Amino acid sequence: MTVETLDLDDPRPTEIVVEIAGSGICHTDLSVRDGAWPYPLPAVLGHEGAGTVMAIGSAVDAVSVGDRVVLSFGFCGSCPGCLSGNPASCPDAPMINLRGTRADGSVTLSHDGAPVHGLFNSQSSFATHLLTEQRFATRLPDGIPLELAGTLGCGIPTGAGAVLNVLASRPGSTVAIIGLGAVGLAAVAAARFSGCSRIIGVDLNPGRFELARAFGATDVIDAGRDDTVATIHQLVAGGVDGAIEASGAKPALNNAFLSTKPTGTTVLVGAAPIGTHYEIDSVALLSGRTLRGCTMGSANPRVLIPQLARMWQQGLLPIEKMSTTFKLSAIEQALAAAADGSVVKPVLIP
Ligand SMILES: [Zn+2]
Ligand SMILES: [Zn+2]
Repeated sequence: MTVETLDLDDPRPTEIVVEIAGSGICHTDLSVRDGAWPYPLPAVLGHEGAGTVMAIGSAVDAVSVGDRVVLSFGFCGSCPGCLSGNPASCPDAPMINLRGTRADGSVTLSHDGAPVHGLFNSQSSFATHLLTEQRFATRLPDGIPLELAGTLGCGIPTGAGAVLNVLASRPGSTVAIIGLGAVGLAAVAAARFSGCSRIIGVDLNPGRFELARAFGATDVIDAGRDDTVATIHQLVAGGVDGAIEASGAKPALNNAFLSTKPTGTTVLVGAAPIGTHYEIDSVALLSGRTLRGCTMGSANPRVLIPQLARMWQQGLLPIEKMSTTFKLSAIEQALAAAADGSVVKPVLIP
């Protein structure tokens, strides 16, 4: 990664230019940097940006210059998945977010006239400014700190949406959350918001437990020391109603699955390396358990992001407790902190 001065296109009719106040670092940024996910180079990464609208195209009607916005991933906006409120299921979303250009093949960034690929996840927010389509911007309510609010665009809705939209936990129900990074902590917060009576957080890093309790965990398990499945069954006889696998570690999925009661549901949100095949206990599945995946919280960003902002206003989603800010020039240090887990959510301030 290097910090360079680039030229940004003027906005086309439905596009906006946003001055970035802060951008979270998400594990997908690391996956692209490491070549585990394809992306054309040279490129600007970053996909948890928030900032202020600085310029709008001639046909923009959803936001105005000066609005504070959180940016999300891209989607077509017109397929059945998008129109039913789950744009993460859009069949065109992977292409839109990973091609590095507009639909017509043009780039939004250049360096001395040479093309640079922007629009990473329809953002490229490791920057002072970005250009995107207006439909990927969500206006932010007052109060919430703009420099940290970009985290509401990817990792946090991924975890919170898995609980709110997929588990749909009822008050009094029980849930186990494996992996207490930003995604898992957001799932913990959503479980508390949903009125779950028992919220069990599991991680290999005991340094995460105090934070998990601050987000709402009632119990924590050190997976490096204790048997996760046995301990969860000790805490909740018969198993939990729901489990979230947010660690991305292969063995953790079967542990999450075995932690649920015979009619429980396990939701996979942790991204294991592409090509990973999971093993699931056959009898546990036969008894009636449900296993499903969930991308981006199965949510419409313009519905879920304002909900998450209200949770922050109520003190139920303290993103400032999980975030550590770095200057954009310290991007290598921030990426290293994300990779080794010493920081839960690094946020770059341009
Ligand atoms: Zn992400
Ligand atoms: Zn679509």
